[in-house]
Amino acid sequence: MSLRKAVDAYCKSCIHDPLAGLGNWKQQVEGCTVKKCELFEYRLFDRTRPKKPRTEAQVAASVKAGQNLRRLLENSRQN
Ligand code: SF4
Repeated sequence: MSLRKAVDAYCKSCIHDPLAGLGNWKQQVEGCTVKKCELFEYRLFDRTRPKKPRTEAQVAASVKAGQNLRRLLENSRQN
């Protein structure tokens, strides 16, 4: 499974409620507001939307979150 698919599957299992009337799973993941989540920066969203430039602290936080995600995926493969 690719990293992209793993993140999508995790987010879908986390947030998707087909009965909520809040759109499909992709729309619900895009609408996630849990900025403290390590996957927040990597969740599915409209990549064509212009982004604000990120600060050095935000970039460093993304790198750290990516490292944590890789470690999490490697640990899940070993189990
Ligand atoms: S970013 Fe985190 S809180 Fe939001 S849907 Fe994905 S796993 Fe859930």
